[in-house]
Amino acid sequence: MATIISDSSFTDENHKPQELHEKCVSLASNLWWAWSPDTIELFRDLDPVLWRQTGHNPIQLLRAFSPLELDQRATEMALHSRINHCYRLLKEYLAQRRGWGIQNAGVLGARPVAYFSAEFGIHESMPIYSGGLGVLSGDHVKSASDLGIPMVCVGLFYGQGYFRQFLDDNGYQREEYVDTNVDDIAMRPALDQNQHPVQVNIETREGTIAARVWQLDIGRIRLFLLDCNVEGNSEDDRKLTSRLYGGDERTRIRQELVLGVGGVRALKILNITPGVFHLNEGHSAFCPLEAIRQKITEYGHSFETAVRDIAQQTVFTTHTPVPAGHDRFECSLVEEHLGPLRDDLGISFEQLMGLGRVEPQNKSETFCMTVIGLKLSRKANGVSQLHGHVSRRMWSGLWPWRVEEEIPIGHITNGVHIPSWLSVQMRRLFDRYFPKDWMAHMGEPDVWQGIYKVDPGELWETHNLLKNQLLHFVRRRIAANCRRREEAGRAIETARQVLNPAALTIGFARRFATYKRAQLLFQDLDRIERIVNNQERPVQIIFAGKAHPKDDPGKQLVQSIVNMRHDSRFRDSVVFIEDYDINVCRHLIWGVDVWLNNPRRPMEASGTSGQKVVYNGGLNFSVLDGWWAEAFDGGNGFAIGDGSTHTDDSITDARDSESLYDVLENRIVPSFYQLDDDGLPFDWIQKMMNSISTLAWRFSSHRMVMDYTRNCYLPAAGGLSCKMNT
Ligand SMILES: *Cc1c(COP(=O)(O)O)cnc(C)c1O
Repeated sequence: MATIISDSSFTDENHKPQELHEKCVSLASNLWWAWSPDTIELFRDLDPVLWRQTGHNPIQLLRAFSPLELDQRATEMALHSRINHCYRLLKEYLAQRRGWGIQNAGVLGARPVAYFSAEFGIHESMPIYSGGLGVLSGDHVKSASDLGIPMVCVGLFYGQGYFRQFLDDNGYQREEYVDTNVDDIAMRPALDQNQHPVQVNIETREGTIAARVWQLDIGRIRLFLLDCNVEGNSEDDRKLTSRLYGGDERTRIRQELVLGVGGVRALKILNITPGVFHLNEGHSAFCPLEAIRQKITEYGHSFETAVRDIAQQTVFTTHTPVPAGHDRFECSLVEEHLGPLRDDLGISFEQLMGLGRVEPQNKSETFCMTVIGLKLSRKANGVSQLHGHVSRRMWSGLWPWRVEEEIPIGHITNGVHIPSWLSVQMRRLFDRYFPKDWMAHMGEPDVWQGIYKVDPGELWETHNLLKNQLLHFVRRRIAANCRRREEAGRAIETARQVLNPAALTIGFARRFATYKRAQLLFQDLDRIERIVNNQERPVQIIFAGKAHPKDDPGKQLVQSIVNMRHDSRFRDSVVFIEDYDINVCRHLIWGVDVWLNNPRRPMEASGTSGQKVVYNGGLNFSVLDGWWAEAFDGGNGFAIGDGSTHTDDSITDARDSESLYDVLENRIVPSFYQLDDDGLPFDWIQKMMNSISTLAWRFSSHRMVMDYTRNCYLPAAGGLSCKMNT
C-alpha cells in the first residue's frame, strides 16, 4: 500500500512510472489539452524551459522524459495528483453524454456532419493554418466537441505548415519554411475496418494522385488530414500538400481536388456516412461532386436525382467579400482534373463547366469554386450580417429573376471558442462571481450579466496583471528578435525596457493585406505624434502580422511599420512583434486595453480577433465592418466612422483616419485616464463591463455552432424539403 497519505488520489497504481507516463501521453494525444488550462499548466510545470523551446508541444516535451525520469520529476514537483486530475477530466469529457448537442442534435448521431476546411487552427504547435479562416475552423470544431455535436472534420496536412516570418536588417519580411515532423504531433494513420492505413487515389487525365490519411483527436471529434507525401506519387505530387496556398493555379486545383474528392473517398473507406456536408469556404467545393458520383455509381441514381439529394445535404459558407479572393480555374485545368469524375457523372464538359459559372453558357467564364459551392448546396451563408448583404449582391447574377433580399444566402456571424481565448486570470475572476456551471452555458446571454456583480477594482487589477504579462512578452520577443539580427547590445537593452505599463496600450495584429490599412494611424504623423507622446496621457501601439509571401505591397506595409523604430518620435511607443501566430495573438488579446481594426469597409467579412479581446476586458475600436457593424451599440467600445464609404478609396481613407484621431483623442484617451476617487477609471471599467455583457455570449463559437446546428445541420440531415439554390 502507498505510504504517502497526504495526497488522497495517490494510490498504489500511481507508483508505476509506466502508467504515469502513459497518462501523460494520453493527455498529449488528444488536442483537448489545448483548451484545458489545468493540463497546459501541468505540461509547462514539467519543464518550463523545454515547454517554451518546443513551441508548447507536449509530444516533444514528453519525449525528453523516460517513464522513470517523469516519475521522478512528478515527485519533485508534486505533480502526481495533478496528472491524475487532468487525466480524469479528459476521461470525463470524452465520456460525457449530456450537453446541448445530445439534446438538440441527436439525429446527427448515426450520420454526422462532415466539416471540410482547407485549414484548421487548433494550436500553435499544429501549424496547419494561416490565419483567420483556420482559427475559425479550429474554434468551430472545439465548440462542436464541447456541445456534443456529432461531427467529423476533413482537411489537408501541410508538411511545411505556414511560414515563419522574420525581418531582415532593412525591416523587410523574409519567410522561412520549417518541416513538421509527423512524430512530433498528435497524429496517427487513420485505419480502416481491417486496421489498414487508409489511402485514397484520385485519377486525373494525366495520372493518379495518391494521398494517405492521418487522424487527430480534437476532444470528441476526429479530424482527418490528407497528405500527398507518399511513395508512388511523382516528386512534384509528393510536395503537393506541403504548403498552404503555396504554388500556382495547377497546385491549387490539385490541392482542392485532394481535399474535396479525396476527403469524401476517405470518409467512405472509413465507413463514415455523413448526414450533412459543411463546406467551409470554396476550397472544398469539389466535395459534393464526389458525393454525387458515389450516389450514381452505387445506387444507379440519375445525375439530376443525385444532385438534388446531395445538395439537400450540403451547407456552404463563403468567407470573402473580395472578388479576387474566390478561386477560379481555366477550362483546361478543370478537364484535366475532373475529367475522370465527369465520365462517371455522365455529363458533358460544358455541363460541368456550367456548374462553376454564373452564366452556364458563357464560354469566357472561368470555373469558380464559390459558384459551384452555391449551386450544389441547399443553404449558403456569409459570416456576418453585413457580409451576408455583400454576398447577396455579389452573387445576385446567379439568381437574376430574384430581388436581392431573396437571394438564398443568409448569414451566421462568426464567433470564438471561449475556453481557448479566455485567460486563466479572467476565468478565475468569472468563476468567483458567475453561476457555478457558467461554462456549460457560455453561449447564453444571462450568464454574462454577472459581470456587473464583479468588483470594479478587481476587474481592473486583473486586466492590469494581464497587461503587464503582455509587456513582458513583447520585451522578451523584441530582445530575441534583436539578438537574432545580431544588433548591438544597446538595441537589446532598449528592447528590454520598451513600452510603459501605465500607458494606454493599443494592439493591431492581423494579416498585412493592403485593405486592412495598417498605416491608417500614421496618415498624419504630427497628429499621431502629439497623441502618443502626450506626457500625462501617453499612448503606445503594438503591431504584429504577416504579409502573404507574394504580396509585395503588404510586405512594404510591414516594413514601414517596423522602421518606425528608427524614428525618435515613435521609438518608445510603436513596436512590431515578428512571426504572428496563435501564441502571439493570445498574448496580445489577453493584455491590450484597446484592439484596433480599421479595414476598408466592407472588405472584412467578419474578423474574429476583436471578439477574443472581449473576454479579457479589452475594448474594441473598429471601423463598422464585419462583426463590429452589428456589435457596436454606442457604449460597449468605440467606432471609427459612421459606416459610410466613398467610391474613391483615398477619400474614404482620409475620412476614416480623421475619425480615428478624433475618437482616440477626444473619447478614448480621456475615458481611460479619467480616475474616480478610488483611483479607478470608472467610465472605462463601465465600458469593459458593457462589452462583456453585450458581446461575450453573442460572439462565442458556441452560439455560432448552435446557429449552424439549428439553421443548417438539422434541416439538411432531416432531408426536409428546401428550395435548392440552382
Ligand atoms: C484570431 C486569429 C486571426 C483572425 O484575425 P482577424 O484579423 O480578426 O481576422 C488570425 N490569425 C490568428 C493567428 C488568430 O489567432
